[in-house]
Amino acid sequence: MSSKIKKADLDWKNLPFDYHKTDYNIRFHHKDGRWSGGELVESEHINLHMAAPAIHYGQQAFEGLKAFETQDGRIVCFRPDENGKRLQRSSERIYIPVFPVETFTDAVRTVIKANAKYVPPYGTGASMYLRPVVFGTGPRVGLGPASEYLLIIFGTPVGPYYKGGFTPVKALVVEDYDRAAPQGVGDCKVGGNYAAGLGGGQYGKNLGFPVVLYLDPREKKYIDEFSTSNFIAVKGNTYITPRSESILPSITNDSLAVIAADMGMKVEKRQVEISELADFDEVGAVGTAAVITPVNQIKFRDREYTFGKGDAAGEVITKLYKRLTGIQTGDDADKFGWLHEIAV
Ligand SMILES: *Cc1c(COP(=O)(O)O)cnc(C)c1O
Repeated sequence: MSSKIKKADLDWKNLPFDYHKTDYNIRFHHKDGRWSGGELVESEHINLHMAAPAIHYGQQAFEGLKAFETQDGRIVCFRPDENGKRLQRSSERIYIPVFPVETFTDAVRTVIKANAKYVPPYGTGASMYLRPVVFGTGPRVGLGPASEYLLIIFGTPVGPYYKGGFTPVKALVVEDYDRAAPQGVGDCKVGGNYAAGLGGGQYGKNLGFPVVLYLDPREKKYIDEFSTSNFIAVKGNTYITPRSESILPSITNDSLAVIAADMGMKVEKRQVEISELADFDEVGAVGTAAVITPVNQIKFRDREYTFGKGDAAGEVITKLYKRLTGIQTGDDADKFGWLHEIAV
C-alpha cells in the first residue's frame, strides 16, 4: 500500500544527514512560571535577545529522535516518551523549567503531522529527524538561570548518517581531551558538551579517524563513549556497554540491549576497561542518527585493535541493526511497544 499523503518532491535516496526546510515547527514559551500552549510556526528563524543566557552561558538542552513511514503507509515515531523524559532530566540539571512528557510527545506528533509530506517514503533508507531544543531567552548578564525560555521542535528529512550506510569506520582513543567532567553534565544532552567535543573530534579527523572514543575523565582507565554515540561491544554471546557517570544514556543503546536479551544474549552494563579492547569480537557506535555504526578498528596509543570481519560488520551487530531498523520501519513486529503511530 502506498502512503496516503502526496510527498514532497525530493531526491529521497540521496538525502544528506543535514538540515532541510520543512513547512512548520512548533514553539512553546515559558514565562511567569508557566509554559504556553504550542504554536505551529512557518518561520525558520527566532528573534533572540542578545543577552539571552543560552548564548552566553549555554543554558540549553536538546533531543534527537526519528519518525518513519512503514511498508503499509503508516507514520510512526520511535520511543518519543523516552526523549521527553531525558529532556526533563537534562533540563533539571541546568535549571531549565521541565516540560511535561505528554505535552512533549503530543508536540512531536503535531510537528510530524504538519510536515507529513517530508517523512521519507518507506524503502528509501531515509527518515524524518526531529530536533527538540529548549533554551534560556530572557535577558540576563550575571550568571543565573534565564527568566524566560523557548522550546522548539522542528523536523527535517535526513538520509543515513554516514554516506556509506552500514559500513565500518575506524576510531581513535583520545587521551588528551575529555568531553565531560566526572560530575559535570556528560550524562545530559546539553549543548556545552558538544562544543567541548569539537576539539577532540577535529584532532581525530586530522589523523584520519572519523570518530573518537573518550575514556572516563576521572581515571582514564575505562571506556566512556564516542563523541555523539554510546559504545557497545560483543564478546561471544555477551552484549557489553559501559556504565559511567559521564555518559549520555542512549535510547538506541537501551533498545539494542533489550533486543540482545531477547535474542538470548547476556547483557552486561558495567565499567569496561580500555585494556578489554583486546577481548572484543565486535564493536559498534550507537545512537539515533546511525542506529549502529560498526567500528572495525580502534587505535589506542600505538596499538590497533580490529573487530568484525575485515571490511564488513560482524554478524551480531548486523543482526542487532536489522532487528532494530526492522521494528522502526514496521517490517518486524513492534513486540516491545516502542512505536507511536501518528494519525495523519
Ligand atoms: C544523543 C547522544 C547519544 C545517543 O543517544 P540516542 O538516544 O540513542 O540517540 C549518545 N551519546 C551522546 C553523547 C549523545 O549526545
